[in-house]
Amino acid sequence: MRLPSTVHIMEVGPRDGFQAEKAWIPTEKKIEIINALSRTGVPEIQVTSFVHPKAIPQLADAEEVLGKLDWLPGVKYRALTPNLRGLQRGLSFKLDTVSVMLSVTESHNRANGNRAIAETLREIEQMVPVARKAGFDIVGSMICGFGCPFEGEVPPSQLEWVTGRYLEMGISHLGMADTIGVANPRQVCDTMARLLDKFPQVQWSLHLHNTRDMALANVVAAMQAGITRFDGAVGGLGGCPYAPGATGNVATEDLVNMLHEMGIETGIDLDKMIAVAKMVREVIPHPLDSFMVRAGKRTDLKPAPKEQQKIT
Ligand code: ZN
Repeated sequence: MRLPSTVHIMEVGPRDGFQAEKAWIPTEKKIEIINALSRTGVPEIQVTSFVHPKAIPQLADAEEVLGKLDWLPGVKYRALTPNLRGLQRGLSFKLDTVSVMLSVTESHNRANGNRAIAETLREIEQMVPVARKAGFDIVGSMICGFGCPFEGEVPPSQLEWVTGRYLEMGISHLGMADTIGVANPRQVCDTMARLLDKFPQVQWSLHLHNTRDMALANVVAAMQAGITRFDGAVGGLGGCPYAPGATGNVATEDLVNMLHEMGIETGIDLDKMIAVAKMVREVIPHPLDSFMVRAGKRTDLKPAPKEQQKIT
C-alpha cells in the first residue's frame, strides 16, 4: 500500500463548521475553541471567513475573534477571503495564508458568488498582489471539484482548466473540495493521480465532506495517489447546504485516529483533539458526527468483568 509517513492536517471547524451552525456561537466560545485547537499540535487552522456579515452572519465577529486569539508560534493561521473587500479586512492580522475561492462549475459559482467564473477569476487576479504584499501565502480553492449539485459530474478538462488559470496567476497551492460529499475513493484516486501527473508543481490539499460517509475512504484513496494534505473539522462540524441535516466535514479526531492507527504521523495529540471535540459538544446544540467522541480510542481499555458465578 502506498502511504506517506506524515500528513499535514488543517483544522477548518472554526470556519466551515461555525458558519454552518444555525444558532449563534458566542465570540468568547469561538476564541476559546480556536485557542484550544492551537494547543493540540495541529499545524494549521482556518480561523474564520471575511465574508459579508449579511451572507454569513455566523462569522460577523471575524475581526473580534482574530483580535483576541493567542497566535501561537508554530501554528499557521488562515482565513478565507472570498473577495477583495474580505482580503482588505484581513490585512491588519498576522495571518499566514488566505484562501480564495472559486467553484469549478458555472452554475455553482453563480449560486455561491452570484457571478460567472470569469468574473471571480478577474477579482482573484486583483487580490494576488495585495495578498502577496501583505506576506500572505495564497491557496486557491476548487469548490465542488468532485461533483456539483446542479451539473453533476465535473469533466476532468474543467479541473485542469481551473488549475491552469490559478497557475497563471501564480497560485500553486490548491485545495480541491468535495463540497457536497459525492466523491468516491476510486474517483478521488484517479482524479488526483491525473492532476498530480499533469501539474507536478501544484501542492494539493483535499477538503472532504462526509455527506455520504466516504470521507475517510477518500482520504486513503487520495494518499494512494500521493496526496498528503487534508482538511478536517473538529467534532465533524459543517454541513451541506444542499442536503439539510447531512453530516459535515470529516471529523479531525477521526482522521487523526485513522492515520495514527495506520502509522502515519500528523503531529496532533489525539487526546487533546478529542478533548476539544468534547468542548465543542458543550457549545453546539446537536450531536456531533464524531466516532472518537462516541466510541473512544481503541486503546481506551475497559476493566475486564469480574468472574461471575456460573449458573449450572
Ligand atoms: Zn467545506
